[in-house]
This record gives sequence, C-alpha cells and structure tokens, in this order.
Amino acid sequence: MIERDIVGGAAHLWDCIPSKAMIATGGALAEIDRARAMGLSAEGRIDFDALRERVASIEQRLHDSVRGLLESQGVQLLRGTGRLAGPNQVIAETGDGPVEIEADAILLATGSRPRLPEWAPVDGERVLSTRQAYPPPEIPDHLIVIGSGVTGVEFTHMFSALGSDVTLVVSRQQVLPAKDPEVAAVLEAEFVRRGVKLLKGARAQAIGREGDRVFVACDDGRAVDGTHVLLCIGSIPNSDDLDCAAAGVEIDENGYVQGNRHCQTNVAHIYSAGDVSGRLPLSSVASMQGRKIAEHVMGLTAVAHRHLDYDKAASAIFTEPEIADVGLAEAEAFAAGRKLRVTKVPFSANAKALIEGDARGFVKILSDPATGVVLGGSIVGRGAAELISVVAVAVANGLTAADIVDSLLVHPALAESLADAAS
Ligand SMILES: Cc1cc2nc3c(=O)[nH]c(=O)nc-3n(C[C@H](O)[C@H](O)[C@H](O)COP(=O)(O)OP(=O)(O)OC[C@H]3O[C@@H](n4cnc5c(N)ncnc54)[C@H](O)[C@@H]3O)c2cc1C
Repeated sequence: MIERDIVGGAAHLWDCIPSKAMIATGGALAEIDRARAMGLSAEGRIDFDALRERVASIEQRLHDSVRGLLESQGVQLLRGTGRLAGPNQVIAETGDGPVEIEADAILLATGSRPRLPEWAPVDGERVLSTRQAYPPPEIPDHLIVIGSGVTGVEFTHMFSALGSDVTLVVSRQQVLPAKDPEVAAVLEAEFVRRGVKLLKGARAQAIGREGDRVFVACDDGRAVDGTHVLLCIGSIPNSDDLDCAAAGVEIDENGYVQGNRHCQTNVAHIYSAGDVSGRLPLSSVASMQGRKIAEHVMGLTAVAHRHLDYDKAASAIFTEPEIADVGLAEAEAFAAGRKLRVTKVPFSANAKALIEGDARGFVKILSDPATGVVLGGSIVGRGAAELISVVAVAVANGLTAADIVDSLLVHPALAESLADAAS
C-alpha cells in the first residue's frame, strides 16, 4: 500500500470522522435543551480547545487502529506518492527516492479533493475549503456556506448548532436538490427555526475579503457579507498525477477512472475504487468496493458472487433531524411512470419519540404494489441513520413490507414506525 499522507484517508482526516465528531458536540448541546424541556435545569457552553482535542484524539485512535490492522495482516506500507509506470509497474516516490514495484493486480484508490473555483480566494483563515473547517480556526460569528448539497447542509447544521449565525447560499429553490422534496422541507423548516438564512436561487460568483469581513456576490445581483465563508461545491478526483496513460488506463472527461461491475478499469488487472471511481462518493461504498475487488483478485467469483448494486446503497445526512434514505427515490420513480406504493407515518405517532421529546420527521416506505417488495425508503428524524439499516437490509435482500410488519419489534421503539409505515 502506497500512501502519501495517512492511512485511513480523507474520511479520517477531514471528512466523515471529524465532521461527525463536531456534529456530536452540537448534538450534545441540543440534548441539553431537550433535557431542559424534560424538567432538568442544565446549561451548556463549548470549550473549543477541548473540542479540538477530542476530534484529534478520535482521529488518532481510528488511524492507529487501521494502521495496526494493516500491519497485523502483513501489509507493507510505503509512505510516498504512487503513479503507474506500465501495466504491471508502479513507482512510489518516497522520501528515500523512487521505489519500483511489480504487481499482478493494482488498485487505484486515490480519492478526491474539494473543488475550488478560480473566483474563490481560499486562504484557510476566512475563506475556507471543507478541508480547513475541521477544526475551524475559530467558531465563526457569521458563516456563509456556499452549496446546499449533503456537505453544505451538514456544515450549516454543525456551525449553527455550535452557535454561529449561518447564511446558506442555495443555487436551486430547495436545499438538498437531489433529495425527496418532503425530506428537504423538514430540514429547511428546522434551519429557518434556528435562524439560518437561506439565499435561494442564487449562485455565488465572487468572494472578496476586507480585514475580518468577507463578501459573497451572487449571479442574480444579491450579495451577502459575513465573517467567514466555506465552499461546499463538490469535489474533483485525484487522478491527474497517477500517469494512467503509462498503463493504458482510461480516464473519463471529468477525471474519473471508471470501472465495470467488478471495479476493473479498461485494463483488466487494474481496478479503481472510492471517489476516484466516480461512483457514489461515500466511505461505505469505497470500502465495499475494496472488499469486492479483493474477492475478485482472489478469484472468488466462481461461488455465488453478489455484485455491488449502487442503487441500493443507504446514505445518511447528519443534520438535525437526521436524514437517511435507500433505494428508489419517489420523485424519480413517478417521473419514470413506475407504479409504487408509498406509505408514510410521522414520528409524532410514535410512543418512544414522544417519550424522548423529539417527534420531528417521518418514515416513508416505497414498495411494489403487486409483490410488496420493499424498493426504497426515507427517514427523517432522531436516529434515522441507524433506523435506515432495516430498510436497507429489506431493499438489498428483496424482503417485502409484510416481512417488516411481521417482525416482532421492541416496544416502545422508534423502529416501530418502520413497521407502521410498512403496514
Ligand atoms: C465533509 C465531508 C464529510 C463526509 N462525510 C461522510 C460520511 O459521513 N459518510 C460517508 O460514507 N462518506 C462521507 N464523505 C465522503 C467520504 O469522505 C469519501 O467518499 C471517502 O473518503 C472516499 O474514500 P477514498 O478511499 O476514495 O478516498 P480518500 O479517503 O480521499 O483516500 C485516498 C487516499 O489516497 C491518498 N493518495 C491520493 N493520491 C495518491 C498518490 N498518488 N499516491 C499515494 N497516495 C495518494 C490520499 O492521501 C488519501 O489518503 C464525506 C465527505 C466530505 C467532504
């Protein structure tokens, strides 16, 4: 394994782990509010240094555990930058000079990096990329988040929970434009309740800075000013320094190294996985691809081999309330003229949600009206990222709504809403 930075990659350094660790702190503050509503007198205040230390220590523990696991399996780790030098050759540029390695099979898993347009003078101080936000130099007084996809809304949620005023620049008329409008509406309502300003239908096109103030100008003439700005406008693949041409590996027009259903590139023994493969940019998908590639390299495809079905990948957005979905999307299915049974129940009808004092959101299950097979689902509410696993198992294994209804679930539990929505 050749790694130029740390094993564990972006997920441990900048993406999943630090973001969720900081969101957890914001969540703990919200729990204090909930505790007050339950009759406790409690107050919370953020100790920013302690927060930084906590995030760093979680990162370190996960890094140590991945490294230990690799070493215990006898994986040779080379610190350096890798590139292809031929169909079976890789060169690692290490601190001690280049090392050439011959290989029967090669996996390209170099990830991606934030997209930074020319009009954004990123300085790591007031104008930030997502890689400079964990932990941020300080908790911003007024943060302007550009981009309202998954990353943009998570940051909006996180910083508003930590006490910042946030303005979110939304290029369409809905946050999370790729998601179910009913799901997005719950999140928008929560943002508005918390005082987040939504600048809808606006595309940022210039950023300026004067001392401690930043200014964002949008294409419709509107402008907003704040103390910090954070760019959440997508990522680009790390394929430029791989020298794919040296091995005859094709890169598409967007820089992705695409693979087939076994994750093989056009050169059969060279595979690609993770963000660089241009599939779903999720850690969970990247690691599943890695597992499937290992099976394929070892020739384990003779036994019943389950291919990765990207359409059945569950994903979550760690806002408050949480959002999670899996499988078929309702709007797309109806647009394609597909017959669908859609059932939805609010958490306000769930005993556990009422007991816990948080009954926001709903569960929605999509199934085939003829067979009852569960095709997808969305959950908005407390614990959505955990609860979606049940729907994901159903979608991945062709279970029916009746299979969920007939399962004897715990009472009182949030999961009862899954059975209610399925029935
Ligand atoms: C803010 C944010 C939050 C996210 N949260 C989640 C989440 O909650 N859940 C989730 O599933 N996904 C999340 N993601 C997405 C997730 O982080 C990525 O999909 C995942 O990290 C991709 O893994 P990867 O292995 O492809 O790339 P990476 O994790 O980026 O790993 C690639 C590695 O390759 C190394 N590298 C690159 N080029 C070379 C080279 N030439 N030689 C040697 N080494 C090289 C890099 O140093 C890096 O360590 C989030 C993304 C962002 C931006």
